[in-house]
Amino acid sequence: MSRFDQHRIVPGAKLRLADHDPHGTPAFDGDKQEGKQRLAALNERLEELQEALYAEGKQRLLVVLQALDAGGKDGTIRAVFDGVNPQGVKVKCFKRPTELELAHDFLWRVHPHVPGNGEIAIWNRSHYEDVLVVRVHDLVPKAQWRRRYEHIAAFERLLADEGTVIRKFFLHISKDEQRERLQERIDNPKKRWKWNDGDLQERARWNDYQEAYEEAIVATSTEAAPWYVVPADRNWYRDLVISEVLVHTLEGMHIRLPEGDPDIAGTVVK
Ligand code: AMP
Ligand code: MG
Repeated sequence: MSRFDQHRIVPGAKLRLADHDPHGTPAFDGDKQEGKQRLAALNERLEELQEALYAEGKQRLLVVLQALDAGGKDGTIRAVFDGVNPQGVKVKCFKRPTELELAHDFLWRVHPHVPGNGEIAIWNRSHYEDVLVVRVHDLVPKAQWRRRYEHIAAFERLLADEGTVIRKFFLHISKDEQRERLQERIDNPKKRWKWNDGDLQERARWNDYQEAYEEAIVATSTEAAPWYVVPADRNWYRDLVISEVLVHTLEGMHIRLPEGDPDIAGTVVK
């Protein structure tokens, strides 16, 4: 058990996001500078573990990132996976579905992007959008999205039973922090490309999204595919929590490097 497990949502537990301080740093005693030092060490360890996972070629890890707009998904990927060998790591962003995707069941578009042996897959948004944005905007009838919690849990159980380790992170920011970040996207020309006209409409539905997240997380946090609610107002703490959980997870996978042919010992390459 690591102290960072306090952010894991225990299966069957109740969840009120309002009880989780987005600005808190409860699992770490140090300040930002110490947090960044710790992060650097974890980052090196993650690099080693990812290389070993790839070399072993037998196990797979799926990382799901969900957040409201400006929640920090992109920054998380940049910081946590900084320097990790892109070979063996694949990032997939799930945007608004295409016509072809909409012509299929909601899991159809995600399944091809699960990790294969030796791989880490990182999902920037995911099948959870189909019980989040879809619910908030009534994109399908309630009776239909309601059933999806069970389908999601069954899908993830299938992945886990077939050998995929799954970790899911909700980057929890405060409404104030979102305002600042969205304002920055307007004011800073270098960030303006991130601005979407829809962002303000989504912000107006803040409470609906909190509720949709609470229900989705509670309905689908399982032993095999746990959710973590990560305080995300402070980027360094967010990165630290996720790095710590991933390093801990990979260490628990007992990765073994292939031994290779013992007969080559002593062979001299000329
Ligand atoms: P962004 O991550 O800012 O590039 O925006 C992607 C947009 O696609 C977000 O507004 C998501 O809510 C939206 N999106 C992702 N998946 C779905 C989905 N299954 N149905 C509807 N909208 C989606
Ligand atoms: Mg956006």
